[in-house]
Amino acid sequence: MKNIILTADRPTGKLHIGHYVGSLMQRINLQNKGNFDEYIVMIADAQALTDNSRNVVKVRDNVLEVMLDYLAVGLDPKKITFCIQSQIPALSELTEYYMNLVTLPRVLRNPTVKSEIAQKEYDKEEVGVPVGFACYPISQAADITAFKANIIPVGDDQEPMLEQTREIVRSFNRTYNKDVLVECKAVLPDNEVCCRLPGTDGNSKMSKSLNNCIYLSDDEETIKKKINSMSSFPRNIEDPGIIEGNVMFTYLKAFVNDEHFKKYYPEFNNLEELTKSYQKGGIGDGRIKKFLNDVMQDVLRPIRERRREFEKDIPSLIEILKSGTVKANKIANETLNEVKETMGINYFNDPNFVNEQINKYNKTN
Ligand code: ATP
Ligand code: MG
Repeated sequence: MKNIILTADRPTGKLHIGHYVGSLMQRINLQNKGNFDEYIVMIADAQALTDNSRNVVKVRDNVLEVMLDYLAVGLDPKKITFCIQSQIPALSELTEYYMNLVTLPRVLRNPTVKSEIAQKEYDKEEVGVPVGFACYPISQAADITAFKANIIPVGDDQEPMLEQTREIVRSFNRTYNKDVLVECKAVLPDNEVCCRLPGTDGNSKMSKSLNNCIYLSDDEETIKKKINSMSSFPRNIEDPGIIEGNVMFTYLKAFVNDEHFKKYYPEFNNLEELTKSYQKGGIGDGRIKKFLNDVMQDVLRPIRERRREFEKDIPSLIEILKSGTVKANKIANETLNEVKETMGINYFNDPNFVNEQINKYNKTN
């Protein structure tokens, strides 16, 4: 079996540190291991439109922002095919056929979609859920299966989408009696806190739509401000510090290494020691924020600097996306043709169709 990696991001904003630990770092590991036949990274603008239909400018303006973030973290256009979802018509066509394999209650049972509907207040009667939004997991199944991707590096909010995709794959192969589509699996981060990094506001997920992000491209001052404004539990400095639900410590768990301690907090050798001492009492949240800021500045500085370099040559970026989209169309069209052939709706390319129909009418006359 071939190893085909696929993953995507919605161009609803620049990428944030949740993307970085949840998905981008896995993508870089996979890229460096090199054990793949095809590696596709897609900018999912059509999916972004499912909840931004009246704000196309936002989606359009973020396509290159996301592309810049990809290159800034080290995704390599020599190894990866970058493409834009809306420019690959086969994906919409596949979505249409897959929609018939999924029931309405099944679509609405998806826990990620459910929580997003509540978050966007679509469940309030006067607003209503756009059909395209409720069905975006089906279009995601089209994205994945069009490339026969089997390896999907994502955060854990995507698990229900991959489950839905696998159901569609099984249903298609069973219904049309041929193993055309391939089942996929998620590659989640090993570090549990990275599977769903919380927002700076303490919300359980950092998300572009929730305005609680530290972006990969934020400047030094902005990062510092965001870290300083993170909520902490009020207490006297000598009182024991609480770790559970403490976002500062969650971020440290995601980003800190022992080198950071040597450089910025030499009283401790590692996070375990710092955690124990914090829990005993005597360390104020101001000190933790200062350390976290030092760590985050170290992590984000090189990314931001690389991004500035790529910003100097926008035409090349567009060219990478354009040629990648041409290649992606070729692969997706091949799968679409195979799907239509398997379903028996490839009339003009099917030599049997003409004879079959002639015979049918010969018999009746
Ligand atoms: P939006 O609010 O528009 O949905 P988002 O911040 O959720 O944006 P997506 O483009 O939906 O970002 O997600 C892209 C990828 O990044 C997915 O694989 C998702 O699992 C991962 N991801 C997004 N946010 C986080 C997070 N806070 N922690 C870990 N992974 C995340
Ligand atoms: Mg999302």
